[in-house]
Amino acid sequence: MKYIDKLKDEFKDRVNNWAERIQVPVVSISIRRMKTKWASYSTTGRLTFDLDVLNLTPELQDYVIVHELLHYRVPNHGRLWKSLMKAHLGDFKKLEDMLK
Ligand SMILES: [Zn+2]
Repeated sequence: MKYIDKLKDEFKDRVNNWAERIQVPVVSISIRRMKTKWASYSTTGRLTFDLDVLNLTPELQDYVIVHELLHYRVPNHGRLWKSLMKAHLGDFKKLEDMLK
């Protein structure tokens, strides 16, 4: 198995674990080159992540994953989304700054 495929598999496991914890549906996960952002999540449960996510530290991967999954429940970055982010990740602002 190629190294990149191993990284992808590990990342997908991470996504599935979070999806179970947060209790949101995930129909498919794809990891490919994206132009504009880290990830997207369709209302049908399809997740797409940029390839660069594989180079992030585990805690930043968690940020990207939880950020997207919570959009199933909350479509914006308002107060509810922020409080859920905090509940799952603690000081998520710090992680957000690290991603920039
Ligand atoms: Zn968002």
